[in-house]
Amino acid sequence: MLLDFLYPAKCLLCDTFQKTTFNTICPNCKDAFRSTNLGNWINTVANPLGIDRAYSGWFFDNEIQKVIHSLKYQERAKLGRELGRYLAQELRYNSIGPLDILIPVPLHPVKKRERGYNQAEWIVKGLAEIWKVPYSLNRLVRRKYTISQTTLNAEERLRNMKDAFRVRKSVVGLNIGVVDDVLTTGSTISACAISLKKEGANQVVAISCSTPIR
Ligand SMILES: [Zn+2]
Repeated sequence: MLLDFLYPAKCLLCDTFQKTTFNTICPNCKDAFRSTNLGNWINTVANPLGIDRAYSGWFFDNEIQKVIHSLKYQERAKLGRELGRYLAQELRYNSIGPLDILIPVPLHPVKKRERGYNQAEWIVKGLAEIWKVPYSLNRLVRRKYTISQTTLNAEERLRNMKDAFRVRKSVVGLNIGVVDDVLTTGSTISACAISLKKEGANQVVAISCSTPIR
């Protein structure tokens, strides 16, 4: 195909040329992601407040770390959607749903402007496509510019995220899947969940591609 010739796609992870797909990750590398098989692991999430159930696709090993790093820092919106589709296959909807709507963890507008996009939005789009669940990108907004959480412990993260989000459209009675790339202590999605529940959401389910927690 002409397009293949013009844009030969190399796998992001193993550098082999992909002849048959336009994906960024080849099937071999995708199959090497280590499934968590955790099912609902909310009982071991450090900051679970407001979250009813939590699901993560893969453990945060080198390969997935590289994918998520690319997602965040190399303007790979397409990769986000692809990862969302893979995640939708990894986490079976019938064991997670029914959900009325999927919502990405929002970025602060300043951060979004800097980066150009919110990676979680693209993961949501991939998930929504396979699961056939509607999504909303503007129902929840981030009003607080938070510092990076990587050096904070669970308690500090919770404080850092307090009142970080605001609900902009009705969520009354909805079962909501809140989606992020990585779930560590749960503090970010917990802050989303608390805001959503305050506005009348029924259930909040945390959905993430990956977790470093074992
Ligand atoms: Zn590969």
